Amino acid sequence: MISFLPTAEFAAALDEQDALRDFRQRFHLPLAPDGQPSVYLCGNSLGLMPKAARAAVEAEFESWETQGVEGHFHGTSPWMHYHESLTDSAARLVGAKPVEVVVMNNLTTNLHLLLVSFYQPNTTRYKVLMEGGAFPSDQYALESQVRLHGLAPDEAIVELVPRPGEHTLRTEDIEAAIQELGESLAVVILGGVNYYTGQAFDMEAITKAGHAVGANVGFDLAHAAGNLEMHLHDWDVDFACWCSYKYLNSGPGGTSGVFVHERFANRPDLLRLAGWWGHDPADRFQMKKGFRPMTGAAGWQLSNAQIFPMAIHRAALAIVDEAGGMAALRKKSEKLTAYLEFMVRQLELPREVLEIITPHDPAARGCQLSMLVHKNGRALFDYLAGAGIIADWREPNVIRLAPVPLYNSFSDVQRVGEVLARWASV
Ligand SMILES: *Cc1c(COP(=O)(O)O)cnc(C)c1O
Repeated sequence: MISFLPTAEFAAALDEQDALRDFRQRFHLPLAPDGQPSVYLCGNSLGLMPKAARAAVEAEFESWETQGVEGHFHGTSPWMHYHESLTDSAARLVGAKPVEVVVMNNLTTNLHLLLVSFYQPNTTRYKVLMEGGAFPSDQYALESQVRLHGLAPDEAIVELVPRPGEHTLRTEDIEAAIQELGESLAVVILGGVNYYTGQAFDMEAITKAGHAVGANVGFDLAHAAGNLEMHLHDWDVDFACWCSYKYLNSGPGGTSGVFVHERFANRPDLLRLAGWWGHDPADRFQMKKGFRPMTGAAGWQLSNAQIFPMAIHRAALAIVDEAGGMAALRKKSEKLTAYLEFMVRQLELPREVLEIITPHDPAARGCQLSMLVHKNGRALFDYLAGAGIIADWREPNVIRLAPVPLYNSFSDVQRVGEVLARWASV
């Protein structure tokens, strides 16, 4: 148990001891109206720009400018194999083997591609279990997947909701729902971290429960990648995908990552939507009939690589690796978020005013704290913005604050507490 103090001096001392403190210099911090760097707590929505991003993209412009099509084969990083240069870092990020990971496309696209393979309902096994109030894109993706198979979303999709009076789901309730659905359950698809509440799910326990009834289990890791330390391979997760522009700082609309467990690596029979980039590279350019998928997650690729977003992603992943990977980031992250929670709680605001709905247990959350503001939430959000704090507002009344270990400091968090105290006193 760490005991915190709410003072600027205490926060500065924590920053002094922070082994990752210099990584803040690797990012461009947006400036507040007063010309000072903002307190940027919005990395859960769009991570900040790594200073290395511009040169990484510039290098590919250079190849294109000077070599044209030859850039596929020449230059420091020939485009033909560019995506492969991301695989090892992406695998480390989620606790996977390289064969289990590929970087391609965008998140919702990848979710659809994976569901084509991992949601193949039949007359008895056709149900989907997901969290109630999942991110809209996930809801729409699942509804349309269900319709694709001629089923009705109302009948096929089962949504988990918290118990009355609670804001987050209990693992035991998720497990019970899985058991109850039994052999009607085709797939479980949850966020690794719920975007709204900030709750991190027990992916290992949920996977185990899903497998026990014969269902496939997948996770949308949009809010988990770059936030949690994960072991997807060991947890035996079937499939997962994530975006790179939130905690992975790879730029707006950036590319996405995919995980497919090794046990599906050599399953050419597993139905998928196919494209030439997923075809065996040995004869990809023979332009012959007959799709033969590559081994592993790479066999789900459709198109040749998007070099520009991947260039940014590679630079951004290199920072994560340099910082010591997710274990190191997570160590700081837990402390940073605990400090934020302390700063909010020591204000002793009544629950009718402001309530943290994110779990208190570090194992059940990432870096984000979601505050339910019962009155004048929007006004508080604007007040924070006026004080140079960039947070995130979600309808109807939640403010999300995400201090991230790569570029946020304990002093950032202390400043949030001070501004909240000022707001509470007026
Ligand atoms: C951010 C987010 C998305 C966004 O999807 P894109 O395809 O990248 O636009 C989807 N699902 C979840 C859970 C998210 O958090």
